[in-house]
Amino acid sequence: MSEQPEACRLVVVGGGPSGLAAAWKASVEAERAGREIEILVLEADGEVGGKARTGQAGGFLIETGPQGFLDDQPVVREMIAACGLESEVLAPEPAANRRYIYRGGRLRELRRSPLAFARSGMLGPLGLARLALEPLVRSRHDDDAEGGAGEDESLYDFAARRMGPQAARRLISPVVLGIFAGDARKLSAAAAFPRLVAMERAYGSLFKAMRAGRRRGVPPPGHRTLRHGIQAFPHAVGALPGIEVRCNRRVTAIERRGSGFRVASSGGEVTGDAVVVAADLPSAADLVDGVSAEAAAELRQIESPPMAVVHTAFDAAAAAHIEPAYGFLVARGEGIRMLGCQYETATFRGRGPNGTFLTRSMFGGSVDPEAADLGDAQLVDLTLRELRRTAGIDAEPTYTSVARWPHAIPQYAPGHLRRVTRIEAALDPIDGFYLAGNALHGVGLSRAIAVGAECGEKAARLLLP
Ligand SMILES: Cc1cc2nc3c(=O)[nH]c(=O)nc-3n(C[C@H](O)[C@H](O)[C@H](O)COP(=O)(O)OP(=O)(O)OC[C@H]3O[C@@H](n4cnc5c(N)ncnc54)[C@H](O)[C@@H]3O)c2cc1C
Repeated sequence: MSEQPEACRLVVVGGGPSGLAAAWKASVEAERAGREIEILVLEADGEVGGKARTGQAGGFLIETGPQGFLDDQPVVREMIAACGLESEVLAPEPAANRRYIYRGGRLRELRRSPLAFARSGMLGPLGLARLALEPLVRSRHDDDAEGGAGEDESLYDFAARRMGPQAARRLISPVVLGIFAGDARKLSAAAAFPRLVAMERAYGSLFKAMRAGRRRGVPPPGHRTLRHGIQAFPHAVGALPGIEVRCNRRVTAIERRGSGFRVASSGGEVTGDAVVVAADLPSAADLVDGVSAEAAAELRQIESPPMAVVHTAFDAAAAAHIEPAYGFLVARGEGIRMLGCQYETATFRGRGPNGTFLTRSMFGGSVDPEAADLGDAQLVDLTLRELRRTAGIDAEPTYTSVARWPHAIPQYAPGHLRRVTRIEAALDPIDGFYLAGNALHGVGLSRAIAVGAECGEKAARLLLP
């Protein structure tokens, strides 16, 4: 009779979406192999979820981190199915297709039809004429993702080159606030918006690429959420059999021990045969330091500025003049500090009681990090003042709350892809050590999950040869 080998242990640091995806995928691989891996998730906080955090107050559903995710990763669907959450997936209301940019002292709708767009006043005649020339602008035909000659184009430069400086300033820069809370001039086009760069590469033009996509009937990835809030997802993954989650365990150091690792935490020490680090920056950098000072130094160069998220709710009558929509982003230079505002009750069903209007406003990011440090009362006052100016909401709120993220969203600066290559080259030789999270390969929830799942799969394959 063959002796049953002792189960290997995978330690996952961080019980956010990425870490939990690593744990889930490792458990799937173990089950497939008919073998056992002991999977231990150590989470610093009192509960799992990371920035995927849902609160309930006064009948409102409050998302203080991600409020939705892009349905562009098959692995996310797989994981949702594994948790039995398929019936919880919620698409936005049709009206949420409507989005606005506040520029030139008023909200302007982002129209899809060329004629309506031209009439929206988003761009002036020169800007429109330049935008119309986009298909004729020569592509860069770079040999490498960061621009052949060694220069990595910023998103602003990319947009200005293809669509003209006015479109880059008035259109692209505000849109970037909504995704990165970042400055288009300080983000790498290739790293932060790889799809745009790939479109230019494949079709020589963004317009031609969009036209080709429409001809092939390829719909853009949908925006989704969960009926009872995003945090339902990490809660469900954390409760899956075969995954042990220990909360209130802040990992303080990781070092190699023999062929495995020693993981020290506020709850004591554990050893692991493999480790996935899915902590957010800058904690991830500190932990990586224990195995590669070089990779840690590179990670410390990636900024993740603070953000504050302010929820304010009103009686629906106060917002009766507002067309139901997703919300708006604010162009810089308008004297408004808010980066943007989402109309939560208009976007997803069930975010608040009937007859209420819930908004979620963002402050801070790399364009205005100081705003995230304002006091709660100041932030609420600022929100109300700015909602009056932008959206014309002039009423006492019935509910307010402020949430803060000291390290909100990693900023992929020009040179990011090369940094990623250096980090991976430094970590690759360390068998059994994997870096998940959203610091390297995409800041959105679905990418963080995909990267986590990939790390979990690699770890399982190593442990189950
Ligand atoms: C305000 C805001 C809005 C967002 N909106 C969207 C959106 O609408 N759509 C979207 O796709 N994405 C959005 N995002 C991005 C999204 O939140 C991230 O993609 C996602 O949370 C990344 O998951 P993660 O697991 O990599 O990291 P995190 O969610 O940051 O989780 C990291 C986990 O590691 C834990 N941890 C850290 N250090 C340690 C340690 N030393 N020991 C143990 N545990 C540790 C943390 O407590 C945390 O639980 C938003 C982010 C913010 C801040």
